[in-house]
Amino acid sequence: MRLPLARFFLQRSLTFQVLSLVVICAGTVAALLLVLAGETGQFDPDPNSVALVAGSMGLLVLALAFVIPLVLRPLSRLTDVVTAVAARRDFAIRADESHAREVRQLAAAFNQLLVQIEQRDHSLARELTEKSEAQQRLAQLAHFDPVTGLHNRHYFNQSVERTLGGHPNTQPLAVMFVDLDDFKQVNDSLGHATGDALLREVARRLAGSLRKTDVVCRLGGDEFALILPLADGMVEASAVAAKLLAALSMPVRIADHEMFIGASIGVALASAGEMDQGELLRRADVAMYEAKAAGKGIYRIFEDQMTVRASRRAGMTQRLRAAIEADSLRLAYQPQVDLRDGRVLRVEALLRWHDEELGSVSPIEFIRLAEETGSIHALGQWVLDRACRDAHAMGERLGRPMPVAVNISMRQLCDPGFADLVDDTLARYQLTGHILELEVTESSLLADWDDIEETLARLRASGVQLAVDDFGSGFSSLRSLRRLPVQRLKIDSGFVANVPSDPADTAIVCAILGLARQLKLGVVAEGVETQAQLELLRELGCEAGQGYLFQRPMTLDALVVHLLESVGPADALA
Ligand code: C2E
Ligand code: MG
Ligand code: MG
Repeated sequence: MRLPLARFFLQRSLTFQVLSLVVICAGTVAALLLVLAGETGQFDPDPNSVALVAGSMGLLVLALAFVIPLVLRPLSRLTDVVTAVAARRDFAIRADESHAREVRQLAAAFNQLLVQIEQRDHSLARELTEKSEAQQRLAQLAHFDPVTGLHNRHYFNQSVERTLGGHPNTQPLAVMFVDLDDFKQVNDSLGHATGDALLREVARRLAGSLRKTDVVCRLGGDEFALILPLADGMVEASAVAAKLLAALSMPVRIADHEMFIGASIGVALASAGEMDQGELLRRADVAMYEAKAAGKGIYRIFEDQMTVRASRRAGMTQRLRAAIEADSLRLAYQPQVDLRDGRVLRVEALLRWHDEELGSVSPIEFIRLAEETGSIHALGQWVLDRACRDAHAMGERLGRPMPVAVNISMRQLCDPGFADLVDDTLARYQLTGHILELEVTESSLLADWDDIEETLARLRASGVQLAVDDFGSGFSSLRSLRRLPVQRLKIDSGFVANVPSDPADTAIVCAILGLARQLKLGVVAEGVETQAQLELLRELGCEAGQGYLFQRPMTLDALVVHLLESVGPADALA
């Protein structure tokens, strides 16, 4: 079969093969008949003739023996393959294509068909996988947070609703709101990638501190929420909250940065059927706000009193808006004095709000509220306008300019129109920029610093001075300090309060003074109350101070009287 002639024969068409065999047989028989007839025309079989016939018959049998393997067997094999494919639904099987042309073509066509079916099967399987992956992704998006892989707000709401709607005998439930402290500063100063990595680490620590049955969700931003079935209610909730705070207070290392990230936690407890989902979440939120307001890094469990305070805040927000519109806020002024001779160098404007119902509200409280509710812009604008108006009036009454320091909030500084607002206000009262100093708290100064850089540069170009308020108390980045156009540091009163008795605080004050000297910045010590503090500050070379030892904040009229009287050294310095 491997001979060239045989291969040639095998690869021809069946018709050719059979016709060839028929021709061979017919030729053989004709030859046989001729031999038998002989030249005499009589049938006189001789051994040679018989042998010839036998030979021809043999050839015919041989021809049939070829037809069977060449035609019938391939066809039957092809049939077997078709049957196997149909039975097993295995489209990877292939028919043998090494037969005569028609059988080969048939097998090839069948194989082609199988290839197509197989390909279609594959693409169908791929489509199905893609579809199920897409469905999984959708489910993931619907219920999971893409940054941390935790459950999301949607899932959280559903879970609380499900658990609260459950059988009344179900265990009491605690909902905890966890809000990271100062996360925005990390995000702003170190970038979003680091911020995300930090969130993942927080997620890992929260999940690692809880049981498998507890639910940990990220609500968005730096807010997380937990649902915990608690057998022991309040006692157990306190223990869990304390454990979470301890886990979150450990330093976090991301790339080259070591960070400390604390959190504030609000806890609310309920039994199934006892209250609705909205009320439970509101309570956890109110408790979290209380934890933040009480100094961060702590937890608070909801109490009814908190609702009273929350509604006070809501009422206060409205009354503050009304007070801004009614122009019923006031500014008090406190001098900053030269520690060598007691001269008043400038005065700081401090906002005062006396409300008929609420009484005198601390600026710390209402300014934080104004920042949260957005009214800080209107409030800040009012302060700036009034301080510039008073600076103009003081200049007229004193016969010399008196620089004014105005506290501003970070949110004002982030407003792209802030530099224009300052320029316009100065122009309205015919003041030059040098008369104005802006005090920004250290923590806020160092956040979002890319955004504020341009605003600060413009203010600087107008001659406006910039001071870092409460220096040493906030989130500190000394490198940013070097790049910012700051002229003065105000040493936080918290350090000044403990000098000279506390060696650590004394060392800090000393270090801040050294830093200011190196960076060629001015310094004002805040909250100077005692002679001992004053003496030490002078000894350490601090140039200026502010505090009750010199003067308390006073009205504009009282200030003008004081300034007119105190041409010489202040009594405290005598
Ligand atoms: P600050 O800017 O650090 O202002 C100094 C605060 O220390 C003032 O409190 C002042 O009355 C108080 N103080 C002054 N001398 C002494 C002292 O010897 N001992 C003690 N214990 N305290 C002293 P105040 O007026 O209650 O203001 C608190 C904070 O509220 C200010 O701290 C400032 O951050 C903010 N604030 C006040 N007015 C404004 C404003 O117009 N805008 C903004 N954004 N913040 C303001
Ligand atoms: Mg200040
Ligand atoms: Mg201060």
